Amino acid sequence: MAELGVLLGLWAAVYAATVALYFGQGWLLIRINARRPERRIQKHRRGEDRARVEIVQSLKSLVVTCGCLAGGLWLQWMGWTLWPPLDLSVWSLAGMFALSVVLYDAWFYWGHRLMHWGPLYRHHLWHHRSVAPTVWSNYSDSLPDAFAMQSYYLIAPVLLPIPPLALVLHRLWDHVNGQIGHSGFEHFADRTTRFPSPMVCVTFHDQHHEKFGYNYANFFSIWDRLCGTIHPDYDRLVEARSGGAGRAEKTPAE
Ligand SMILES: [Zn+2]
Ligand SMILES: [Zn+2]
Repeated sequence: MAELGVLLGLWAAVYAATVALYFGQGWLLIRINARRPERRIQKHRRGEDRARVEIVQSLKSLVVTCGCLAGGLWLQWMGWTLWPPLDLSVWSLAGMFALSVVLYDAWFYWGHRLMHWGPLYRHHLWHHRSVAPTVWSNYSDSLPDAFAMQSYYLIAPVLLPIPPLALVLHRLWDHVNGQIGHSGFEHFADRTTRFPSPMVCVTFHDQHHEKFGYNYANFFSIWDRLCGTIHPDYDRLVEARSGGAGRAEKTPAE
């Protein structure tokens, strides 16, 4: 029973911290975006009209998302894993963080493509109701959809000797990256976010919401480039938006 109490305590703590980050970072991004209205990506849509709906759904789906991370940490704590986590050091932290990010990007790409497959798409449909995503859209998804994508955090600690701190930092980066990636304003377009770089900017996932059948990955563009699912205009748009406000006006017509 005590073990179950630990799981529930972890779950509650992860949920409370994530909700605090969600509102804190969301509020900060809205303030930054308000100062640069010319950086709005979809200039003729106002995704923020759905803010209330997205926030309510996010508070529900975060129960699943946070349960996956808490569950993974708990399984490690119980010792129910293939091998014990590596002792914490700079090398184990950096190495397992990097490996986990690369593995998660593959998990996300293929899992996301699977959720776009006919019989499963009805679970992913909710997330795509946000055609112009906002800072509140990242967790606006159905509970099965949240589980499909976030169960990585439940399974990875069982299969990988990842130190718990590396897993938490990975999830933290996923949160920060995901909320910025849905923010609807482009502040990061430059040569490091277009070919041949594997990095992406806000436009990448924004195009997934606006154009639908492209850009399925999360952190990097590698899988989309390999599998031919990157939006054909992505690199051109990033180049046009590089430098931000001034040159954003020259964005090619889509
Ligand atoms: Zn999708
Ligand atoms: Zn999205």
